[in-house]
Amino acid sequence: MALRMSTLFLRTLREDPADAELPGHRLLVRAGYVRRAAPGVYTWLPLGLKVLEKVKGIVREEMEAIGDQELAFPSLLPREPYEATNRWEEYGDNLFRLTDRKGADMLLGPTHEEMFTLAVKDLYTSYKDLPVSLFQMLPKYRDEARPRAGVLRGREFVMKDAYSFDVDEAGLQRSYEKHRGAYVRVFDRLGFDYVAVHADSGAMGGSASEEFLAVMDSGEDTFVRDASGYAANVEAVRMPVVPVPSDEAARTELWGHLPAAHVEPTPDTPTIETLVDAANASHPRTDGRAWTAADTLKNVVVMLVHPDGTREPLAIGLPGDREVDAKRLEAQVSPAEVEPFEAADFEQYPALAKGYIGPGVLGEERATGIRYLLDPLVTPGSAWVTGADEHGKHVFDLVHGRDFTADGTIHAATIREGDPSPTGEGTLTLARGVEMGHIFQLGTKYAEALGLKVLDENGKLVTVQMGSYGIGVTRAVGVVAETHHDEIGLVWPRALSPVDVHVVATGKDAAVLEKAEELTAALEAQGVSVLLDDRPKVSPGVKFKDAELIGVPTILVVGKGLADGEVELKDRASGTARAVPVDDAVEAVVAEVRS
Ligand code: ATP
Ligand code: MG
Repeated sequence: MALRMSTLFLRTLREDPADAELPGHRLLVRAGYVRRAAPGVYTWLPLGLKVLEKVKGIVREEMEAIGDQELAFPSLLPREPYEATNRWEEYGDNLFRLTDRKGADMLLGPTHEEMFTLAVKDLYTSYKDLPVSLFQMLPKYRDEARPRAGVLRGREFVMKDAYSFDVDEAGLQRSYEKHRGAYVRVFDRLGFDYVAVHADSGAMGGSASEEFLAVMDSGEDTFVRDASGYAANVEAVRMPVVPVPSDEAARTELWGHLPAAHVEPTPDTPTIETLVDAANASHPRTDGRAWTAADTLKNVVVMLVHPDGTREPLAIGLPGDREVDAKRLEAQVSPAEVEPFEAADFEQYPALAKGYIGPGVLGEERATGIRYLLDPLVTPGSAWVTGADEHGKHVFDLVHGRDFTADGTIHAATIREGDPSPTGEGTLTLARGVEMGHIFQLGTKYAEALGLKVLDENGKLVTVQMGSYGIGVTRAVGVVAETHHDEIGLVWPRALSPVDVHVVATGKDAAVLEKAEELTAALEAQGVSVLLDDRPKVSPGVKFKDAELIGVPTILVVGKGLADGEVELKDRASGTARAVPVDDAVEAVVAEVRS
């Protein structure tokens, strides 16, 4: 049945919603696809639901094509399985926890590894039952700290999550590759620009993992690429770590020729900028070049908050011309969260001279006892200007390996365009994206925690190897909206358009509406889905504006031209229109829609 504008549950809006920061989100709300119910929680109106169903259809087809079976777990879940894997705690504030009337703890599922693992454990016992891959496409709940851009980052959102179960690692590898292939086909069909990048497996545990990022300047993820085809989320970039040599000859070669470290007065230099200026004014380099921020070693102290609530300070040493990249840091300390080191925290550590913190007091074996990690850019043998742990003083020519060491490495410095690639192949370019899918080789993490074992061919119990594969279904609608629109409205790719054609009947002439109805029926008979603008008292201008806003790729205008036996076929994306004899209209639309 055609959708009719006269009765469709829709009111397009002329005004932008106040809370919408991205254009695609604004347009989805204005064109009547979604409405906000609460921060990060959205209602899908009839047009929006059509698009969402298209995405689900594509995802379902490709998952079923690789033999995955769909099922549906509840969203309301018991605590125990999540307790067994530690995630009841590890998920921290992101988890929606609730209590039932009997006082039992429950949660709204943020992801379902536990439930799938237990279901397979319930039903399967033998290697003969495997491999099996299962999926569902249902709402997930995460109390995101920063819900954003409507359906792009919601607190309730639909995820397709699939899980594979294999008897050994080789099987897991095959399942992973199969799912990877399906993901490539899904994202090719969804029609946005994307890249598959190496990813950090974060709180999910396990080893190999890749993300599919939609390439978008407004994306929250940053990824790098080099000319060799390497692509990685910055979170997952691991720069080569050069160890401090232990053999004496190598050590002498590295720093034997370097001057001894010396402390200098540098009054009022609590920032890198003031330090560089003071160093150039009062302690110029002997080689003639000027000091720059890159010559300084910045020591940033943060507070880690572990899932059980314990707080642990962490100091990070990095070149002064770089910042700590919050996402890289968070990925490496997860499930701990990172908070700023506040004035009250400084009071607890009197050895920390704010603005003048140096390696002299950092490290588990030194005055503060604060764990000290260095970014690999601080290589052994490199000499630095850094805090002397006294207000108004810095130490010069402090050499890593000779004069100070740390407790370990952390890959935390911001990565820049042009940095050498960790593959050794040229330099890195940077771009931004939105995570659309994530595939993991979980290995035995969940199977072990929940006791999922089967008998292998030799009658021995083995722990099952699992993979987990997610796609942001509601997020996909958001990404397509962000990447497929112009100034005046949405421009859906055919595969996701709520209907195939928008038929606009204009003018007061009864014959026009009659013809539009007739064409609509003929199109539907050909399997073409139609949105018919049959509103009797609405001006052509308003109808055209709405059609442009709604963004169906093909618009058929039945109006003035009918007197000459013509209708107008418009292409929403290019804005071009052509007259078509009314008798050829159905054929012309079918050709467009199937093109
Ligand atoms: P992000 O880093 O964007 O928070 P994530 O790494 O937490 O995502 P996963 O746990 O890997 O996400 O979930 C699988 C997929 O679900 C993601 O690739 C993404 O497409 C989607 N997704 C995750 N969180 C949200 C959300 N809050 N709103 C909409 N979609 C989401
Ligand atoms: Mg992820």
